[in-house]
Amino acid sequence: MTTITLKSLANENDRITVSGATVDALRQSLRGPLCLPGDPGYEEARTIWNAMIDRRPAMVVRALGAADVIQTVRFAADHGAFLAVRGGGHNIAGHAVCEGGLLLDLSLMRSVHVDPSSKRVRVEPGALLADLDKETMAFGCVVPSGINSTTGIAGLTLGGGFGWTTRKLGLTIDSLLAADLVTADGKLLRVNGNENSNLFWAIRGGGGNFGVVTSFFFRMHPMAPAVLSGVVVHPLETAPDFLRDYRRLAAAAADELTAWVVMRKAPPLPFLPQEWHGREVLILALCWCGDLSQGERAVAELRGLGRPIADVVAPQPFTAWQSAFDPMLTPGARNYWKSHDFAELSDDAIDAMVAAVRTLPAPDCEVLIAHLGGAMSRVPPEATAYPQRNPHFLMNVHTRWQKADDDEHCIAWARNLFAATADHAAGSVYVNFMPEDEADRVAMAYGPNYRRLSEIKRHYDPQNLFRLNQNIAPAVHEVRATG
Ligand code: FAD
Repeated sequence: MTTITLKSLANENDRITVSGATVDALRQSLRGPLCLPGDPGYEEARTIWNAMIDRRPAMVVRALGAADVIQTVRFAADHGAFLAVRGGGHNIAGHAVCEGGLLLDLSLMRSVHVDPSSKRVRVEPGALLADLDKETMAFGCVVPSGINSTTGIAGLTLGGGFGWTTRKLGLTIDSLLAADLVTADGKLLRVNGNENSNLFWAIRGGGGNFGVVTSFFFRMHPMAPAVLSGVVVHPLETAPDFLRDYRRLAAAAADELTAWVVMRKAPPLPFLPQEWHGREVLILALCWCGDLSQGERAVAELRGLGRPIADVVAPQPFTAWQSAFDPMLTPGARNYWKSHDFAELSDDAIDAMVAAVRTLPAPDCEVLIAHLGGAMSRVPPEATAYPQRNPHFLMNVHTRWQKADDDEHCIAWARNLFAATADHAAGSVYVNFMPEDEADRVAMAYGPNYRRLSEIKRHYDPQNLFRLNQNIAPAVHEVRATG
């Protein structure tokens, strides 16, 4: 085999050269395949959810276990190769893949092992939310996660993780008991409240900055098979009044109730009258996870607002609701996101969002308003790396389109709405919703926790091997001259 050149870790404009014998030795040490461009599995490994990202790594390791991860991390560190780590491949920023470097692809490691007696579940880092939900719900249990079942559990957990059960059960990280982590020196560490507790603190929100997780261990929570859930659809014309009532009712809601809003052009859903297909609407998405008859009463006021075009809220299996939005979030489209947290949803922010929805640049673009609080807000901000524990509304401007020709126009629309609402925002931002061009927001995203994260990074990854992420720079300690 001939030599391979890889992007250098020390200088991204340089290349390092590795002999064919060295690559063969790595290949022999692995259980999973090592793929070069053109090999089977190479395209699958480099293709991620956001079609804006089209990068060609020089080499891919498709890990099958912790040993493969250790070998790959050591190889990257020893040879100074630029490294990317891929879980479910969903992150908007596209950090899961690098151009010209070494890609450590974890997507084949998808096992989920439930221990019903201890109510714990061990999850491998390539597992998707659907894998986790299907396994745990077979035992009447759940781990709180996100709203799109094809999202990877790894990236979601490392950033914090929230969805339909977060107000009742907390963030995904609030159910994380432990993890196995391969650090930059190629060691596998168990991290939990007692062992390597600094690292355990850091990976609960700090992203992929500290190592590669090979197993997550979660606490499971009992969950009824059905949730009261569905959508209520309104004309966009009534959105300003609706949202003023929504913010009041959402803020006062019981922990069991989660109510999010999406404003977009109506998809051709079978329960919507045809004349509404393609017109701007406000979609209220509701989920009550608790006693169903109590839930009917709890959602009545929200469902009674305005004059809806359609209301399809009813009991349904939790796993069905968890995948209800999958058809609108399929891979392969071009995507760009901008996000703000809001302590309060001001009239001006509401009006700016509604005005932007009147000028959507492409049919699949949308503005999402999520409401977070309940159990997740009863954890102190310094308890985990994820800092924004106050009840808050989160806006995600989700721009989604098909052709590269529309990039500029669509991205400009998202940035304009982001700028128009900036004065009303809390300043924090969810790292998992940040696009690639927001490196300057990372410190703000972690707020008071950034300094500690940066110290831990310095201790465990001083060379910043794990840098293709929302990067936390290793702390720099001033060297004082003596004499
Ligand atoms: P990847 O792109 O594979 O990974 C993201 C990054 O995480 C990688 O670049 C790497 O730095 C790091 N990483 C991945 N695996 C590991 C590992 N094992 N060890 C160390 N580092 C690792 N988030 C929510 O909280 N709630 C939601 O409801 C929600 N909905 C979403 C819906 C859609 C359609 C999309 C695209 C995203 C959504 N997200 C949501 C955001 C989601 O949490 C992030 O995109 C997350 O990063 C996805 O994880 P992944 O493993 O699929 O991503």
